[in-house]
Amino acid sequence: MTSNNQDLVIGLDVGGTEIKAGLLKGSEIVSARRWPTEREKGPQHAVDQVLLAAKSMHDEFPNATAVGVVVPGVVNTKTGVAEYSENIGWRNVPFVKLVNEMTKLPVGFGHDVRAGGVAETIYGAGKGFANSFFMPIGTGIAGAIVLNGELFDDPYAGEIGHLDVKSGYMCACGVTGCLESISTGPSIVRVYNEKSDSKLESSFQVLEAAKEGNMAAQEVWSAAVESIAFALNAYINILAPEVIILGGGVSKAGDALLEPIEKYLDGRITFQRRPKIVIAELGDHAGMIGSGIFGLRAKNDH
Ligand SMILES: [Zn+2]
Repeated sequence: MTSNNQDLVIGLDVGGTEIKAGLLKGSEIVSARRWPTEREKGPQHAVDQVLLAAKSMHDEFPNATAVGVVVPGVVNTKTGVAEYSENIGWRNVPFVKLVNEMTKLPVGFGHDVRAGGVAETIYGAGKGFANSFFMPIGTGIAGAIVLNGELFDDPYAGEIGHLDVKSGYMCACGVTGCLESISTGPSIVRVYNEKSDSKLESSFQVLEAAKEGNMAAQEVWSAAVESIAFALNAYINILAPEVIILGGGVSKAGDALLEPIEKYLDGRITFQRRPKIVIAELGDHAGMIGSGIFGLRAKNDH
């Protein structure tokens, strides 16, 4: 994957809490702004906030030559429509049409996690690898699949968060056992608080407690990470990535995440290709930088 990085583009990364907006030149963030998504005011309001962000950025940076928009949920990149987001609640929003009408610029469009995967592949931890898997572990878990240097861009691909890891916990998707029910940041806190009748607020606090010798916290952290390792091993056996890039809030644990995964793989990988397991390099900006890449591609396809 390559990208012409000379043009200035506007990248919007829409999340459930906020819209990250940037004026980008390749992976360089020339200027950044944030708007609240305010999903609690309803799906239409969230759409209006995205359009407000696009308009404000376009007004402030009229020299931008394209816009990229990436959103969570089920995304149809062929029609330019955000079909569904459980997180934000919208259905069938034609973002490409709406943003193009407002800015008169070419509009690239995609899924937030897959945009992050493309950004990490071109500019970050996946640079130089043809086959990679980018998996942010945050409030949810999903992955971006890159095969032979190209993003596998199917709206239903990469839902590793709903692999059955026999967690014993109910998942938001409606069944029991999913990776998301035990290994996301909020799941780690919830499981720990339930087990120890505590009121911790973040997975980092659980990790800190584990490091200080709290056995319940150690058990919860280990179970979360082993479930991640189990799910990654399934991916490794099927698609043989050269590199697995872990992102999202939980990846800030660094070695406390990587070491148990490597140890698990020591006992599982025999003849298979053993991928490098690394932490993402672009951090919170991966989705926004990816949306800029999509914007530039829309312009070049124009
Ligand atoms: Zn699920």
